[in-house]
Amino acid sequence: MSGKIMIVDAVATNRIVLKVKLSAAHFEVSQASSGKDALEMARLARPDLIVVGAALPDMGCIDLIAALRTAPGTAVVPIVALLPHDNTQGRVDALRAGADDVISHPIHERIMLARMRGLMRQHHALQDMRLNAGSEHTSAFGESQVAFDRPGRITLLGAHLADAMALRTRLRRACRHQITALRASGPVTQSAGDPAADVFVLLIPNAAGIPATNDLGHELMAELRAAPEARHSRIVARVPAGCQTLAASLLDMGANDVIVGDVDLDEWRLRMTRQIQRKQAIDQLRTRLHDGLRAAMIDPLTGLYNRRFAMPFLREQITVRAPGAKDFAVMVADLDHFKQINDHHGHATGDRVLCHVADLLGSGVREGDLVARIGGEEFLIIMPGADGDEARRTADRLCRRIAATAIMPKGEAGPVHVTVSIGVAMGKGGQSQDMAASNLDALLDQADRALYRAKGRGRNNVTISARPAA
Ligand code: GH3
Ligand code: MG
Ligand code: MG
Repeated sequence: MSGKIMIVDAVATNRIVLKVKLSAAHFEVSQASSGKDALEMARLARPDLIVVGAALPDMGCIDLIAALRTAPGTAVVPIVALLPHDNTQGRVDALRAGADDVISHPIHERIMLARMRGLMRQHHALQDMRLNAGSEHTSAFGESQVAFDRPGRITLLGAHLADAMALRTRLRRACRHQITALRASGPVTQSAGDPAADVFVLLIPNAAGIPATNDLGHELMAELRAAPEARHSRIVARVPAGCQTLAASLLDMGANDVIVGDVDLDEWRLRMTRQIQRKQAIDQLRTRLHDGLRAAMIDPLTGLYNRRFAMPFLREQITVRAPGAKDFAVMVADLDHFKQINDHHGHATGDRVLCHVADLLGSGVREGDLVARIGGEEFLIIMPGADGDEARRTADRLCRRIAATAIMPKGEAGPVHVTVSIGVAMGKGGQSQDMAASNLDALLDQADRALYRAKGRGRNNVTISARPAA
């Protein structure tokens, strides 16, 4: 994995030693020796991760982290604080200021690289989501602030239930999150529950033999990663002190954070809160993406699919290869004299009539058929696998049903009646991709012509195209 890392440290040898390690791991490294330089360079160089060492000449490491977190260009960039020596207060301060993780001298290279790779992986995935959701420039705080309105759900999974219960008791003193303690036995999926936790914490116990501990950690991790219910959950593992290699391999397997040994309650709270904020921000982006995708293919008035969705669906029917290649029916249904309905009852009633007709069409076809609104008062119905007889029966039924239904739009004194005319054309699957576009046009043209004839024959009827299948 490559990526751009910026090292901020006043001590040249610190920077050089770290640069050698990171370059050997194929990262592109830039360096800054003061807070001011770091802020300026980060804005220009747009690193994928920033390592903030202590001892800067112009500002404290904590102040720099806080400044990077609020600067527009670096608000969402992962930050790792590098402490001169490991200590609780330093870790807590850095996390509180907005660091994503903390490492300390002497550097354990494997775990440092695993943490950095993990953070960058998550950062890139999130950036892609932001880009797709059209919120590339949202700040980390902006996202999390909105998302953080509700308390999170944490599930503690202990190989020993007592472990999980003890941690739950401690965490409850410090967090307002909903915390569940479970024994990690049998398939984790069963305990994942519905809805799954925002964060799963795997508590890997101190075992007499380290290999057994490793196996358990890997097993739990693999199981949780494979559980569909937990696919969006964050995973944090707590491994016994000294199990750095296990910690690194769990990070490489996709753990979002690993806590080595026991840490104080403040640190637990900060790390949990960070994961919950991330999870909720990602959920929010996912919803926005989903809504965007939905909006792109759904007609907002009737809730039916729109033309943009319907055309690729039709194309698929044309090109689907054996054994799925079958005949299919394409119908264009158009409301009769709809302009008069608007003229007599107003546009709002016209809209309600359109919605009623959409409902009648949608509920009058088989599962797997597609009904789309492709124009103002024009609908497209595609029936995969239908032959000519079935298509005619369905079209006749739809036509009769709409004519027979008295629509009672809100605000109208009496019922409104409407009829449709339907033109039907039959298509054949299994055709070449090259011909798909012209076949699609030809098919729609046939259905349109049939509709035109249905209108000419007095409306409220069905006409089937006499032309051979396209
Ligand atoms: P025909 O039987 O020949 O199809 O006659 P028609 O009046 O249905 O056809 P025409 O094409 O003359 O008019 C269609 C009308 O549909 C005109 C337009 O105002 C109305 N319309 C199109 N989209 C909407 C919509 O979203 N809401 C409402 N209320 N009316 C719409
Ligand atoms: Mg019409
Ligand atoms: Mg029309």
